[in-house]
Amino acid sequence: MNIKEIIAKMTLEEKAGLCSGMNFWETKPVERLDVPSILMTDGPHGLRKISSGPSSGDRTSIPATCFPPAVLSACSFDRELLVEMGAAIGDEASAEDISIVLGPGVNIKRSPLCGRNFEYFSEDPFLAGEMATAFINGVQSKGVGTSLKHYAANNQETRRWSSDSRIDERTLREIYFPAFKKAVEESKPTTVMCSYNRVNGEYASESHSLLTEILRDEWGFDGIVVSDWGAVNDRVKGLAAGLELEMPGVAEPSNDVYIVQAVRTGKLKEEVLDLAIERLLKLIIKLHPDSNTAGRKEITQADKDRHNALARKIASESIVLLKNANNILPLSKDAKIAFIGEFAEKPRYQGAGSSQVNPIKMTSALEAAAENANVKYCKGYNTNYCDDSDSALEDEAVAAAKAVDVCVVFAGLPPAYESEGYDRTHMCMPEGQNKLIEAVAAANPNTVVVLFNGSPVEMPWLDKVSGLVEAYLGGQAGGGAVADILFGVANPCGKLAESFPIKLSDNPSYLYYLGEQDVTEYREGIFVGYRYYDTKEMDVLFPFGFGLSYTNFEYSNMRLSASSIKDSETLTVTVDVKNTGSREGKEIVQLYVGQKVKDDRLIRADKELKGFAKVSLAAGETQAVTFKLDKSAFAYYNTEIKDWHVLTADYEIMLGHSSRNIALKADVAVESTADIPHKAGVNTTVRDIKRMKNGEALLQELVEKSPMFARINTKPEPGTLEYMHLNAIPEMVLRQVRLMGAMPGMSIEGIQKLLDEKLNSD
Ligand code: BGC
Repeated sequence: MNIKEIIAKMTLEEKAGLCSGMNFWETKPVERLDVPSILMTDGPHGLRKISSGPSSGDRTSIPATCFPPAVLSACSFDRELLVEMGAAIGDEASAEDISIVLGPGVNIKRSPLCGRNFEYFSEDPFLAGEMATAFINGVQSKGVGTSLKHYAANNQETRRWSSDSRIDERTLREIYFPAFKKAVEESKPTTVMCSYNRVNGEYASESHSLLTEILRDEWGFDGIVVSDWGAVNDRVKGLAAGLELEMPGVAEPSNDVYIVQAVRTGKLKEEVLDLAIERLLKLIIKLHPDSNTAGRKEITQADKDRHNALARKIASESIVLLKNANNILPLSKDAKIAFIGEFAEKPRYQGAGSSQVNPIKMTSALEAAAENANVKYCKGYNTNYCDDSDSALEDEAVAAAKAVDVCVVFAGLPPAYESEGYDRTHMCMPEGQNKLIEAVAAANPNTVVVLFNGSPVEMPWLDKVSGLVEAYLGGQAGGGAVADILFGVANPCGKLAESFPIKLSDNPSYLYYLGEQDVTEYREGIFVGYRYYDTKEMDVLFPFGFGLSYTNFEYSNMRLSASSIKDSETLTVTVDVKNTGSREGKEIVQLYVGQKVKDDRLIRADKELKGFAKVSLAAGETQAVTFKLDKSAFAYYNTEIKDWHVLTADYEIMLGHSSRNIALKADVAVESTADIPHKAGVNTTVRDIKRMKNGEALLQELVEKSPMFARINTKPEPGTLEYMHLNAIPEMVLRQVRLMGAMPGMSIEGIQKLLDEKLNSD
């Protein structure tokens, strides 16, 4: 039977039933018509398939490879690695008859406080979009579906079911949408998961504008929208808005009855329901394990070992080396070393909540280090307690520190500090750990700190330690990866996917983060992360894109394919990148674009990431790296024309090691091919008239007609009264210019007529 035939045979109740789950993880089958059920599970960085079956209501899940969560994998800036990770997860899913893996999460890290930041990629939409696209391509290459989540503007956990994210349209388009848009357009996720929260007053789960106009009509989404678990408010409104599948299966009486009633009473057209059913059936048939020809069905021990090795590689290629004074790292195997801190033995490797994977195996840094060296271990603090200080443990650590060449303190955030479901209230590590680091560093200046955390922390001890490794949450093989970095088996090549402010109050969302009651206003607008810190020229602890290596890289010979382009053309930017050190390494070259001279036409960030490339270079090797920039590299979202628009202006192309370490710059003039239809009137400023097509000529005419305007062409000495007067002229509106007698004989109507003829006619 084809889909249309199945729909024709389905009863209204069967159709309504298909629009919600059978239980927590499965869709409902329609057995009499051979419509099977499909199974979905979390995601994103590994599987969470409930061991005792989808309807058990249990939380224990089968063992699966726990890859590094997004907070770490994003720091790889490595698209291919994310494809590999997705493909491995796809293989594991396919072997378990899982049709959809619920991920990736691409919400923007607006504040370091969001309890779920560990599950998201970045503060930057371009990076988040690239990583998500790669991950989806990987999973879906195995015939398994994904769920791009949580759409949209879901950037806090506080009041996550009721909060209302109030965001202006330009900010939504430039910051909170692009990662979704890119992933939808370029990797075609089979499902998109709508978020719990409201966006500008309307639940995401019932927003026609979000779920249909933007997602489907503009971005071309052709999968199904699934609700986040429990995100449905008004089921009928949701269905009409474009929400096909409600998850999980709801408590009786289920929301399906509202759909039936709405069709019977004419409140909902049956065609709307039929369209949802058509989409659902297509997806169920396509993703049912029986139709999966891409995936293979069995995961062998060899696969598990391979996935573990891949998880270790992803972690080691993502860990960020933040400080390395006097090249304290890599450690020599022959040095006397102490590992201090419980995380060395029991790493924190993932965040809590729906993404929690039951790992196949676990390697701690302590175990992995034993492969390389003889390491003394002291517990240092108690991870299980929020106030984790213990003076006996601290004394033991200090004594050990005095007896060794190098100390490595493993510290960070205990699990209870950050989790899905709630936010942090501060950015501090436990006081006991801060104290321990200070005490160890005072006892031995050769102290390196390794951090396990899901988002940035304040570091009052930073100046006192020699080395700092940001290991974030590394998945099951993260401990091994840390050892690889510490002992130089791997050369660090990750860079921060978010800025580390010095203190919480530096963050741009600080004043508005939780809002009042349910309303959160995103008043910082487009100034999220480095867009804010860099434009404000504020000091940060570590900038976006920052990360050190055991070798060094130099950029030279930057070249552009043209010095001026139209916005319909592509610009090619090429640079030579050289490994100037003595060992092989990888560099992440970042390309930022900024408008060269800011003016009063548009508020913009100093720079925005528009490209990145990760290159592997042998010692002494040079490679040319090329970027292609199209209109999207220069455009902003114009709310008047409701489209992306490029201002005709000079732009600076910046190539950097980080957002704060720009090595090379070059300018390009970009000309817009789309005019914004501005009409001049008597209240238009001289400044704006000058910028309009034919505006200069019109002003010249006025100059010729009136003595006052003629002064525009004079060049008075700076500091004179005349100079001041002239500077003020561009700010005047024509109505005022007329009052000053500068347009002799012209009435208000006459001026408008002139403007209409000369400026407004086309
Ligand atoms: C989370 C989703 C998750 C779902 C199923 C929700 O609470 O927000 O990310 O996929 O539960 O576990």
